[in-house]
Amino acid sequence: MASFFDGVPAMEPSSLNGFSGNRIDRRSEKRDDGAVDGALADPAARLYLFQGDKVVLKAASAPDPIFRLAEAQALSADHATTLLLGWTEAGPRLAALLPATMALDEGSYRLIDLRSLAIEGSMTAADLGAMAQARSLCNWHLRHGHCSVCGAASVMKIGGYRRDCPSCGAEHFPRTDPVVIMLTIDGERCLLGRQARFAPGMYSCLAGFVEPGETIEDAVRRETQEESGIKVGRVRYYSSQPWPFPSSLMIGCHAEALSTEIHRDEVELDDCRWFDRAEVLSMIAGTHADGIKCPPGIAIASHIIRAWAEAGA
Ligand SMILES: [Zn+2]
Repeated sequence: MASFFDGVPAMEPSSLNGFSGNRIDRRSEKRDDGAVDGALADPAARLYLFQGDKVVLKAASAPDPIFRLAEAQALSADHATTLLLGWTEAGPRLAALLPATMALDEGSYRLIDLRSLAIEGSMTAADLGAMAQARSLCNWHLRHGHCSVCGAASVMKIGGYRRDCPSCGAEHFPRTDPVVIMLTIDGERCLLGRQARFAPGMYSCLAGFVEPGETIEDAVRRETQEESGIKVGRVRYYSSQPWPFPSSLMIGCHAEALSTEIHRDEVELDDCRWFDRAEVLSMIAGTHADGIKCPPGIAIASHIIRAWAEAGA
């Protein structure tokens, strides 16, 4: 019998993207102010630790991001900003911040940016996903200690998913900022751009923040036209990616070009041009004659590009 969902792949394309492997059961409806202490009372509780925006790893043999409560306390993990991520089959998972000024023993611990850690490939997808959740929340608490209504110091509540203002009563919730990232297609070719900060030879999808009052499709059309001068018609959602730098949700789309003449935004992009399918396939394979390449596999752009290029190969 035909189903409304015929044609929807069983394998979600989002599962290919970096930071998408979070398997934590958040139980968000059960969060209360005793949630952190309740979880920490479980001997199976484990913590991810951060210092500022960097992940703390045990440096012995294989890098290990998981700490017992006693190990976290020995490193002066801050109980007042300990967050409850949720539960795994192995027990509760939390995150905590170490004091910014504390020097960690370099022989025993390693500090690393989460993006570099993801590219290094030494973590499981489940740990990377959980650390993405933790990094976004930790970053929010570090930067939102005061009420945006009245300026008073606010207090962490319900395991870290809200901050309350004791002065004016305002409640503040962690934000997720939507970003559209799109591959615009004109028949057998697609539009890729280069920012100055990219690795040498790398071209990628165009991208930009969704603005207030805008649909995803309108954001794709506006950003593409602003950055490249290309007019876009139909837009199709492909996949999404948590991007914890600090709190974005990347929304990947394919878009249909209605015009072909490029007028590049010279501030945003060093270059922007059309690439035909064969050239893109050589970039993916790492065999492009000029060394031009696509982003690495943790990036959603890599999979948006590959989905189109390989669909017609
Ligand atoms: Zn207030």
